[in-house]
Order: sequence, then C-alpha cells, then structure tokens
Amino acid sequence: MEKGADWQELQWVPIPCQLCGSTDYSVYKVYRTLPAYQEAYGPGGVEQQVVKCASCGLVYNNPRPPREGFLSLSSTDPHTYRPMSVLLSRRKAFFECELARLRKHVPTGRWLDVGCNYGIMMRLAADAGYEVHGNDVQPRLVKAAREELGLENVMLGDLLDLKLAESHFDVITAYAVIEHVYDPIEMLREMRRLLAPGGVVRCCVPNVESRHAQTIPEWWEPYHFTFFSAETLRAALNQVGFVRVEISATPYAPAFVRNRQAVLYKILRPAIPTLMRAFSLLSEAAGARVARLVTGSGLYATAREA
Ligand SMILES: [Zn+2]
Repeated sequence: MEKGADWQELQWVPIPCQLCGSTDYSVYKVYRTLPAYQEAYGPGGVEQQVVKCASCGLVYNNPRPPREGFLSLSSTDPHTYRPMSVLLSRRKAFFECELARLRKHVPTGRWLDVGCNYGIMMRLAADAGYEVHGNDVQPRLVKAAREELGLENVMLGDLLDLKLAESHFDVITAYAVIEHVYDPIEMLREMRRLLAPGGVVRCCVPNVESRHAQTIPEWWEPYHFTFFSAETLRAALNQVGFVRVEISATPYAPAFVRNRQAVLYKILRPAIPTLMRAFSLLSEAAGARVARLVTGSGLYATAREA
C-alpha cells in the first residue's frame, strides 16, 4: 500500500469555524488513527481532535494540518484504491440511481463531477448523453478514469486551482468530497460560481449525527476534516447562495447489512436501491429528532442556484 504524506511532520494549527468564523467551541471527540489505517499513517497513528462550534454547531477537525501541505496529504490517501471490477460491482447501482434522480432535474447539458475518483459517475453520465467533465487530486485515479473508463475530460488538480469558466455547468456532483477538503465552504462557493442558471448541485457527505458515527469507530476516518449534520450542511449551502436546498439521509444499517459477505446482505441486496429511496423520502418527512435515531452514515443534498 502506498504510504500517505507524513502527518506527524506537518504543524497542525488552530482554525476558526469555517462556517461562521467563531473561535468558540467545545471538544466533541478525540480519537487516534485506528489499526485499519495504521499501515498508511505509521504505528501509533495520529491523534485528532474534533470540536463543535459554539455558535453554529459545525463539527470540525481543530487543530488541523495547514493549508499548504494539505493537498499533498489528501492526494495520497491510499484508501481510495480498489480494482475497477470491485468498484463497478459495488458502486454502479448507486450511481445509476443518482443519474436517474438528476436527469429529472436537468435532462441534458454539461456535467461536472468534482472529486470524480475512478470516474464511474462520469462514465454513466457520458453514456446518458451529457457533456462530462471531472477532476480529482489523485493522479492514480485520474489515470484510471482516463485509461480504464475511456474518459476524456478528466482534470488533475483541486477544483479551486482549475479556474473553470463561470456559470458553465448544468449539473455539478461531489460525492464524498467536501468533508476531505481544507475549506468546504470555499469549495461549495466555487461550485455555486460554476453552476449555470437553472442548474443543480448534488453532494453527499458523512452524517455526524448518524447512529453509525456514534456506534462505529471506523466511521471516524483520518482523511475527513469537516463533519456535517443536516443542519450545518443546509446552512453551508445557503451561505454560499444556493436556494431550494433539499437534504435526505441514508438509513442506519445494522452490521449484517453492512457486511457484504453476510448471507442476509446478499439476500437483501437487490432490494437495497428501493429501500434507500423509500427511506430518503421518509427521512425528509420525519422530524429531525426521529431522523437522528434511524439515520445512517450518509447525508445527501440537492441544491439550485435560483
Ligand atoms: Zn460556527
């Protein structure tokens, strides 16, 4: 396994809340890199402190690695590397659901997938007739998207550095991206700038108020730096100028459903997309307190520019 950038050598620095600017917080959680990640981060791992903003409630890593050095850190995250065949078997159905959902909003046009990973979303969108673009900070992923999935417009680099044309894209997606970046609000603002009139943004992040976050140690991955709730994700999207923000959550899944080797998982698997859709409607309708009891790892947001 490729070793990540050396975390311990970076000078971790305190930062204010990126959502509201407050420096007032309480400590939310302190955790040390789990054994599952220690191959990449060295024996003993890295201790991370997560705080909750006293003003707006954003949960974030503080102190954190400085902005300079941050990109090299995230561009070497070794946990994203998996064989394409495995990824396709696990992720294709999910992205097909996403494509169907987004086609209802915007049936044609230019699609930008931020943090495109291996390019599976890009490939499906291209096959559905969109003009597709994507970027990733990891050279190995960009190479795989180009060579294994035959994609052309895959850019290497941070979205903020690419300086793409304003109001250029009709659909912008970011799956499991903004929790990884140095400043997620800045990233959302850039996505807002790039979105064309009538366009739609779709992003997903881990849900800090989920039962998974409370019960599964592995939920706290070392490459995550901002931990959104439904409320703070909505506030972040509103702050950068999105309106008509809809948030939904994935359901809490017991261990036997999360374990892809389990017999029950294999039996339930064909029904999972339907169950997920039903749950997302339910979670949108249910009150926040009810939702917290049953929501699993993911939060999804759909937002428009007007
Ligand atoms: Zn705040």
